[in-house]
Amino acid sequence: MARYTGPSCKLCRREGMKLFLKGERCYTDKCSYDRRPYPPGQHGQRRVKFTEYGIRLREKQKVRKMYGMLEKQFRGYFSKADRVKGVTGENLLQLLERRLDSVVYRAGFARTRSEARQLVLHKHIEVDGKVVNVPSYCLQEGSVVSVREKSRSKAVFTDSLEQSGRRTTPEWLEVEKEKLSGTVKTLPQREAITLPIQEQLIVEFYSR
Ligand code: SF4
Repeated sequence: MARYTGPSCKLCRREGMKLFLKGERCYTDKCSYDRRPYPPGQHGQRRVKFTEYGIRLREKQKVRKMYGMLEKQFRGYFSKADRVKGVTGENLLQLLERRLDSVVYRAGFARTRSEARQLVLHKHIEVDGKVVNVPSYCLQEGSVVSVREKSRSKAVFTDSLEQSGRRTTPEWLEVEKEKLSGTVKTLPQREAITLPIQEQLIVEFYSR
């Protein structure tokens, strides 16, 4: 699956908020958004008034970039969320949170979602005792995500766990740090997803 390989910090500056795409650096004074909290480019500091369409577009782009996806894949998630029972916006967030790379990040086994994606692709992660190398793999209630035994001594996991103290583990996920393992206790409900997202705007964007 294709992915964005350009500068991450520009994405935060474009969306006007910290998306925490660079791990530890995001918490230091090296953060580009803290230094230059305006959009990138020659006209970045100009005052811009967004149209209704622009507001919805930016919200969609923000969430898409947060989860490190390109448009085609993100739209696919929206279509799936629209097909299943329930509130489309909430379904969408739940599907995104249930991705294997997202859960690896949430559990604190990786410093960023892109690192989590790489760890999955490099076969360091198991689901229910079997190696899964598909970052978009959708986890179910009760799924156990763990680091493969022979990969547990890697520095990346110790570093990530140390740094994960800055983030709160979601209540739907039970993590046993010493075992490098996490269990999806329940499917993530909207109130448990504390990210600053207005999912209704994304639904309105795709329903226009
Ligand atoms: Fe965004 Fe700052 Fe992290 Fe760069 S360092 S990705 S601007 S939060």
